[in-house]
Amino acid sequence: MRKNYLLTPGPTPLPPEVCSAQARPIIHHRTPQFQAELKEAFAGLKYIFQTERDVFILSSSGTGAMETAVVNLLSPGETALVIEGGKFGQRWSEICRAHGISVKTLEVEWGKAADPKAVAAALKADLSIKAVFATLCETSTGVTFDIRGFGEAVSASPAVLAVDAVSGLGAIELKTDEWGVDVCVSGSQKGLMLPPGLGFISVSAKAWKMVEASKSSRYYWDLRRAKKAIDKTDTAFTPAISLVIALNESLRMMKEDGLEKIFARHHRMGEAVRAAVKALGLSLFAPSAASDVVTSIYVPSGIDGEKLVKTMRDIYGVTIAGGQDEMKGKLIRIAHMGYIEEFDIIVGISCLEKVLSKMGYKFILGSGVKAAQEVFLQD
Ligand SMILES: *Cc1c(COP(=O)(O)O)cnc(C)c1O
Repeated sequence: MRKNYLLTPGPTPLPPEVCSAQARPIIHHRTPQFQAELKEAFAGLKYIFQTERDVFILSSSGTGAMETAVVNLLSPGETALVIEGGKFGQRWSEICRAHGISVKTLEVEWGKAADPKAVAAALKADLSIKAVFATLCETSTGVTFDIRGFGEAVSASPAVLAVDAVSGLGAIELKTDEWGVDVCVSGSQKGLMLPPGLGFISVSAKAWKMVEASKSSRYYWDLRRAKKAIDKTDTAFTPAISLVIALNESLRMMKEDGLEKIFARHHRMGEAVRAAVKALGLSLFAPSAASDVVTSIYVPSGIDGEKLVKTMRDIYGVTIAGGQDEMKGKLIRIAHMGYIEEFDIIVGISCLEKVLSKMGYKFILGSGVKAAQEVFLQD
């Protein structure tokens, strides 16, 4: 036998309540029973998104919600500004280009955050920019971006701000309405502690005008159709019924704890992992803007990064992530998002120590675990 621990930035582990909710017999979606589930889910999502607006539920992974944002905001030939500091920023650009939208990029070095002043300057320099696409937590680098700063820069312009909060929503602060986030997209398999399969999107009044005006082709992703349904506490198509029911379990758990406590827990876990990294003599990839969602760590020289991840997973059952694209083999990423607590972190660090030790990396065994424990002891 072997016990498995999931410390990846999506999917994240599932609480038992969420698992068992999905095992219930299916119900029909055009019924008062399911309508009650939808009503609860919509209210809970507003709490998590910190918005007064509708949060639409889509049957898709996070990328489907991103594409929904693009086709509903912009028409072919229009211009978007994409803040690109990693793989997921690039995804915004790829989706825009696939729909004939002209993309201007604000390129940020991987591992660094973007300066909101640069966003304001880019908007001033090109008045044709209709939408700015950003990322809350760039999962490929472990960087949290200054969404509040972007919101200030964009709300002073005619453009709208769309944020990919797939990674980070319900784990770190994001005040959708207060920060001027016009469109916020997320997914189920990260901070929300669900299996993959649900996408979410909220739309401000400013952005809704663009939804009405967009000439992009859309059918399944058409938010005008979704709006007609949501106004009747319904969905346009067959929803992922079991996932919506499971969502209510995770939303209940999150409401019980409260966002403040959830964010504090994620911060402590981030601090503990960063302390362990330092104690082990390893280096953070993004020391200036490290997120409390996922920590990116350089693989020390002389160690095979891909083998490190594989050994932890296949021999010891602890799954962390490696680097993506240009950082493949050069990084490891330990996620601490969703249904994760301090002792999961201790397990993850101790497994990392064991495998590093076996691979010949020199350090004091137990020093990473000790540093993490010391953070957790500061109550
Ligand atoms: C996981 C993730 C996504 C969505 O990916 P899917 O595989 O489509 O769910 C998008 N953006 C970020 C930052 C992510 O971490």
